[in-house]
Amino acid sequence: MNIVILSRNPHLYSTKRLVEAAKQRKHTVEVIDPLKCEIIIEKKNPAVLYKGKPLEGVDAIIPRIGASVTFYGTAVVRQFEMMKVFSTVESQALVRSRDKLRSLQVLSRAGLGMPKTVFSNYTKDVAEVIKYVGGAPLVIKLLEGTQGLGVVLAETNNAAESVLEAFNGLHARVIVQEFIKESKGADIRAFVVDGNVVGAMKRQGKEGEFRSNLHRGGSANIIQLTDEEENAALKAAKSLGLGICGVDMLQSARGPLILEVNSSPGLEGIEAATKKDIAKTIIRFIERNV
Ligand code: ADP
Repeated sequence: MNIVILSRNPHLYSTKRLVEAAKQRKHTVEVIDPLKCEIIIEKKNPAVLYKGKPLEGVDAIIPRIGASVTFYGTAVVRQFEMMKVFSTVESQALVRSRDKLRSLQVLSRAGLGMPKTVFSNYTKDVAEVIKYVGGAPLVIKLLEGTQGLGVVLAETNNAAESVLEAFNGLHARVIVQEFIKESKGADIRAFVVDGNVVGAMKRQGKEGEFRSNLHRGGSANIIQLTDEEENAALKAAKSLGLGICGVDMLQSARGPLILEVNSSPGLEGIEAATKKDIAKTIIRFIERNV
């Protein structure tokens, strides 16, 4: 097969591992920067140009589209779909998953557990918002944040009010969430491929840190999911229509609570923690579908 990885950076661990796994399975593989692609739209014959030449004979694409290039990147994915090329992530699902608020709405409609969450339109009545999630301690998150940046724990109502007023004043969109203290600075990441959990890890924040992100100094270990956790991860992937995703959950007294579903989940942490060849699992997923 002829596989294209849509990625801006061929040197990233995940990109390199996917190239390696594709070659091991005897496929041809090319890393293409989606921002360097031109999209040709006409009545018939949709095409993608790369460095001035049409990309032909592509059997499958693996989109690894960063959040900052979602708009153009998903347009390129959509174009490949119009050319009947298999994509490991559908463009529609990719767009949907990038909108945190919309994703939470879809997940709650599917009956999945999540921390109680309030989103409001730069409200002046911050006290009301705080009351809705049961008062401090609570978590305030910038809607556009990733890797734990823009996630704040407000320990008192006063602190929560000041932070909310500050964000509102800056016209930064935030969600306010009940703080799940039983999770003790840890979360779990279930890596889903094609309706199966192919690996899971528990990430623990460093001492005194409630955020478990590896980028914030957290550490990761392999974990055996409970049936309830596994089912929640699979249901989350299904409701968002994602063939490949990383489902982040908190372990709470009332069962797993979904935090977020990542449509370009990194391979480095999960392969290191589980010692599994997840890149190969992704290539085999393509083989079954092309
Ligand atoms: P990001 O997308 O920036 O990683 P998350 O929503 O995943 O933001 O939050 C980062 C980390 O903060 C999570 O991995 C988790 O450890 C912790 N966290 C987030 N929300 C809550 C919450 N409501 N209660 C307790 N801990 C939380």
